Amino acid sequence: MTNLSVNRVGALLMRGKDTVSRERVIVKDMPLPDKTEAEQKQEFKLFVSNFRLLQQYADFIIGTPEYFHILLKDLIVGSMLTGGNYAPLGVWLLLWKEGFMISRCPQCDGEAYIFKAGGSLLSGGNSYTALCPACTKTFYGSVPSFGSLFFPVREKKAEYPNKVKILIRETQGFSWSKGLEGQSTPDEILEDGIHPVDLKTLIAKLEQKEWEEAT
Ligand SMILES: [Zn+2]
Repeated sequence: MTNLSVNRVGALLMRGKDTVSRERVIVKDMPLPDKTEAEQKQEFKLFVSNFRLLQQYADFIIGTPEYFHILLKDLIVGSMLTGGNYAPLGVWLLLWKEGFMISRCPQCDGEAYIFKAGGSLLSGGNSYTALCPACTKTFYGSVPSFGSLFFPVREKKAEYPNKVKILIRETQGFSWSKGLEGQSTPDEILEDGIHPVDLKTLIAKLEQKEWEEAT
């Protein structure tokens, strides 16, 4: 509506048409599931308390797209230039297996796993949050260069894309009584991405698997 230029309006009137439709195709990352802040906090607690189980079944999760592509609000790397970048659970499990995003717990000196980081690619300044599975606690830290946190996550994520391709239609009409009217027709999904299960569902599945293997 508001971005329809004056020239465009003029052209519409000249042609005597009363509507104009615009279509564009966008490709974007599958979005974070729609959850309340309380639900996100609950999910993060579940992630911390079940971290060992997630690690134990890392290969199983990595091999199952509906588990691999689980997104959590707290599993993110962001820079001032690129903004926040969510990476799916499978990407983090792969990185930890390969020895990236690993730190040491200040309390027990055990291996701790970085799951969130932010900083500047220009200055290199950064801070991260890591989880110690032995203490089931998170702590903050930083590394000499932000690139060592930023690039491994970005590159690994690019290897495992989960995109959705959407056709967006915008129809705009003009009437003498009401002036310009905007009207959006529903967007159409041209290519859908993978819809991952909830973390809660995955944990339940892993608990069942562990129980079956023990009996
Ligand atoms: Zn510890």
